Amino acid sequence: MTHQSERLRFAPSPTGMMHLGNIRTAFMNFLFAKQKNGTFVLRIEDTDPARNFDPGAKKIIEDLTWLGVSYDEGPEKGGPFAPYFQSKRNKLYQETLQKLIDKESVYQCFCTNDELDKRRARQIALKKPPRYDRACLKLTEDAIKQKLDAKTPFIWRFKLDHDKKITIKDLSHGEITFDLKNFSDFPLSRGDGSFTFMFANFVDDMLMKMTTVIRGEDHLTNTAGQAALYNALEAPLPSFWHLPILCNIDGKKLSKRDFGFSLRDLKDAGFLPEALLNYLAIIGGGSFKDEVMSIDELTNTLNFDKINATGQVKYDVEKLKWINNKWIDRFEPMTLTERCLPYLKETYPQVTDMNLETLSNILHILKTDFNTLKDSVDAVRFYFEKPTISPELLAKFENKAQLSAIVSELLEKTAYPDEFQTLAKEKAKQHDIKIRDMFSFIRIGLMGSTQGPSINDLLAVLGAQESRNRLEQFIG
Ligand code: GLU
Repeated sequence: MTHQSERLRFAPSPTGMMHLGNIRTAFMNFLFAKQKNGTFVLRIEDTDPARNFDPGAKKIIEDLTWLGVSYDEGPEKGGPFAPYFQSKRNKLYQETLQKLIDKESVYQCFCTNDELDKRRARQIALKKPPRYDRACLKLTEDAIKQKLDAKTPFIWRFKLDHDKKITIKDLSHGEITFDLKNFSDFPLSRGDGSFTFMFANFVDDMLMKMTTVIRGEDHLTNTAGQAALYNALEAPLPSFWHLPILCNIDGKKLSKRDFGFSLRDLKDAGFLPEALLNYLAIIGGGSFKDEVMSIDELTNTLNFDKINATGQVKYDVEKLKWINNKWIDRFEPMTLTERCLPYLKETYPQVTDMNLETLSNILHILKTDFNTLKDSVDAVRFYFEKPTISPELLAKFENKAQLSAIVSELLEKTAYPDEFQTLAKEKAKQHDIKIRDMFSFIRIGLMGSTQGPSINDLLAVLGAQESRNRLEQFIG
């Protein structure tokens, strides 16, 4: 048996902004293709010109590039199955429709939307499943001819075999069988001659030779109808993986109202593409020894041959922040500096003229304290602006006078600043003061906060003179 190479695709409709759900779909297709040495295709489903907010898919491509999710075939890249925009593939839909006409698998439907709505309402009132009643399947050839002569608008419907059951392979559920008697003869074209999502999406998957289709589980009923189309044309059926829909922390479908739903929010807030992809790949995917993984590590670790069927997958921004923090920690100092720069420039224009090494040293000692790149703005504030000392913070120290005296004594020492921290520790011991209190007190003087980097690190980044000035002013 010759081994067929895997082909997967991401098929977004350019009707809105990229959001977590479709990024997750894109990335799972990408990872699956990468792990199997297959091909990952980008196809733009732009059959609805009125809702096309992203002509040429420029934004989609920009977002995928930012994320680091590259494709092998698609817009701007081309490939053996071009074009990769549905709006340019009408001829192929027309040809495939003709094949179905020749096989008598489709019929023309002249019912108006009004008529359909009324019949639907009646079926619902009678507690029957709302399904097309096949009125137009019963039309005689003469009746059809008359309607066509009168230029009555019509659509093409697919004639489902209601006596049949159809089975698909789903990577997480195993086999799923659909009883076609529960489905309606669905439309393949619209009154204006354009084609429906159901049809164009199927034709493209078939012609582009997709072997595995990974998409949201909201497409499960579409899969049933589309599987029937594959059968009608005797085309090989791909495997599917229907991904559980992402929910918010309350278990409701993730929506625009949830922070982080749109990629734009996450970018602006300083989340890293590495962390975002990492997070989306591991949620709902079982437990991992080390959850912080790069694309390559994920490719080697995820087991697509043994996918657990998960119920709900919850998006938890706190976990995402945790992963982001781990990624920030993982970066080389200069890489971190470059990533933080755009955020820092907005608040501290002076960073433009600053020595990058100095900035990188500052960020390096603070990086465990920030979860997003944007958090770096607050974290470095003490460096650019003299700290304001909050009386509440100081009020916690009962022995302020004693602590100040020690700091003053330490500033006299010639070994300053190299041995400042060690001597501060010794002095604290001598005076029976908790070392933590001693250091917190000094930190307040240097940066206005009790928590933060080590005293040595603070002295190093602030410099001897500036540190001295701050401490002198602090102890008055
Ligand atoms: N354009 C469809 C969507 O964005 C694609 C669904 C699919 O992956 O088949 O939902």
